[in-house]
Amino acid sequence: MKILVLNSGSSSQKTALFDLSPQAADPASPLWEGKLEWDGSKETITVTNSDGKKFREESRVLPEKRGSSLGKMLDQLWQPPTGLDLDRKDIAAVGHRIVHGGPRLTEPAIVTPEVKRAIASVSAIAPLHNIAGLDGIEYSEGYFPKVPQIAVFDTAFHSTLPLAAKVYPGPYEWYEQGIWRYGFHGINHAYCATRAARLLGRDLASLKTVTCHLGNGCSLAAVADGRSMDTTMGFSPLEGLMMGTRPGSLDPGILTHLLRSRQITQAELDEVLNHQSGLLGISGISSDMRDILAAVGTGNERARLAFDIFIHRLQSGIAAMAGSLAGLDALVFSAGIGENSPEIRTSCCERLAFLGIELDQTKNSLAIPDVEVSSPGSRVRTLVIRAQEDLCIAQTAMNLLSPC
Ligand code: ADP
Repeated sequence: MKILVLNSGSSSQKTALFDLSPQAADPASPLWEGKLEWDGSKETITVTNSDGKKFREESRVLPEKRGSSLGKMLDQLWQPPTGLDLDRKDIAAVGHRIVHGGPRLTEPAIVTPEVKRAIASVSAIAPLHNIAGLDGIEYSEGYFPKVPQIAVFDTAFHSTLPLAAKVYPGPYEWYEQGIWRYGFHGINHAYCATRAARLLGRDLASLKTVTCHLGNGCSLAAVADGRSMDTTMGFSPLEGLMMGTRPGSLDPGILTHLLRSRQITQAELDEVLNHQSGLLGISGISSDMRDILAAVGTGNERARLAFDIFIHRLQSGIAAMAGSLAGLDALVFSAGIGENSPEIRTSCCERLAFLGIELDQTKNSLAIPDVEVSSPGSRVRTLVIRAQEDLCIAQTAMNLLSPC
């Protein structure tokens, strides 16, 4: 059972092929991975197969032509040096990561014209991602005409939010119009909570877990009984924690002030909130936490401020999530920053000792996911877990096609 996963973002399109058949040697490791990135007018295709064979091509193609570039990347599935001994009919399904499922798509779905319309209808809310996701689906339908396309939604896991966490305290009509807290990164939050329970030898149903997805986008989820009870992202992926280029939660009065005083247009505001805020906006250096940490090391004050705001908001967010759960058994760090930065984990956990969180500094500094990093006496168990969104999407697609 070979499943291809397409993860289409605003500036990259990642793809991975998994063999989930029972006889597969290592179903968790992709047989083949490709990445198509856009950087201004340049694009780069990088492909690697499980034998370590690589293909890399850099070209000057305009982003509008990215459909054909996706085809160029997918062609490497069958062409040397990275091609595998298969053809299109060997692909059982293509799984697509779709960031926003809107009010109706709360379960993984086989793509139909109606599903595509529902995805398109919420594209304005998550413009960075949903349009790219739809482009990926439409290209894949043409490239694999007889293969089922499965959409898996980042919002779906949070459809269990209690109304008190879900509904914004604006006019009730907002809720009736679908303006509520959807939450994002659900594929990874769900996976991390389940994986933490397994690693700790605990029943998922008895565990209160806060999962921290800290990548370019950052969010927290409060998970009890395997269900999302609260989360930091809301109607759009702009709410909540400070991120690489997004500010997270702001006083909405700032936005009305900027618009009313005509300092900014709505399009400029979108640009500022999506691309010019967060770590980049405050430091003026970079959206990449590695650059921020390096600049902090050289005494750069704006990088220090960016770091301090990031930690301040992360700490208070974790405490708020623990409050929503009325307790905390496990804390999970995941995604690029969460998995790779012992400094962030330490700085964040230091002031959360009152919740019973205590790290083992040696384990934390040497952590290779998936691993526990809490001290033996810590009441809350802290883990570092590798994000496996593509594998989760492949498994979800397989379960949808052949439920066990
Ligand atoms: P995405 O949200 O795009 O999937 P990732 O989960 O790959 O992003 O996370 C990307 C971010 O991870 C980078 O922007 C960088 O800030 C951060 N990161 C990666 N490695 C490290 C590291 N060693 N230390 C600190 N941050 C890191």
